[in-house]
Amino acid sequence: MKTLTVSVVTPDGPVLEDSFEMVSCRAENGEIGVLPGHIPMVAPLTVGAVRLKNDSNAEQMLFVNGGFLEVRPDNVTILAQSAEVPGDIDVERAKQAKQRAERRLQAQQDDLDHKRAELALKRAMNRLDIAK
Ligand code: ATP
Repeated sequence: MKTLTVSVVTPDGPVLEDSFEMVSCRAENGEIGVLPGHIPMVAPLTVGAVRLKNDSNAEQMLFVNGGFLEVRPDNVTILAQSAEVPGDIDVERAKQAKQRAERRLQAQQDDLDHKRAELALKRAMNRLDIAK
């Protein structure tokens, strides 16, 4: 069975490098599923979960804070500002980030602060969802 080498890299260093049979992630213009042999492409990712399937069809998830997906026939690289595997997600920290963002969204703010709070809320909610 053919596999893909998947590397997830952040400014703090590599987060994951392993072989998988399928990668799916949310790009800015929709969900992308990548199997071995996929045509080369590059796509911007949104904040959310990357799903990885191994050869026994077990699914593993990973949080990515946006970034870029680079696909080649036998490997996939994800470059993200931050990324965590479920075991590295600090649930208490994400809960606090969620509460902070919700408080900011309730307060009167300019558009930029509102947008920032929305993005922080999205990161926190996705982290909590993936850590479950
Ligand atoms: P916070 O407000 O808690 O810092 P954030 O969403 O603003 O959250 P990021 O800017 O996405 O944080 O990430 C900054 C660094 O902190 C990255 O290295 C990221 O992996 C790490 N990080 C952020 N939140 C968590 C978390 N809940 N668990 C583990 N690592 C986290």
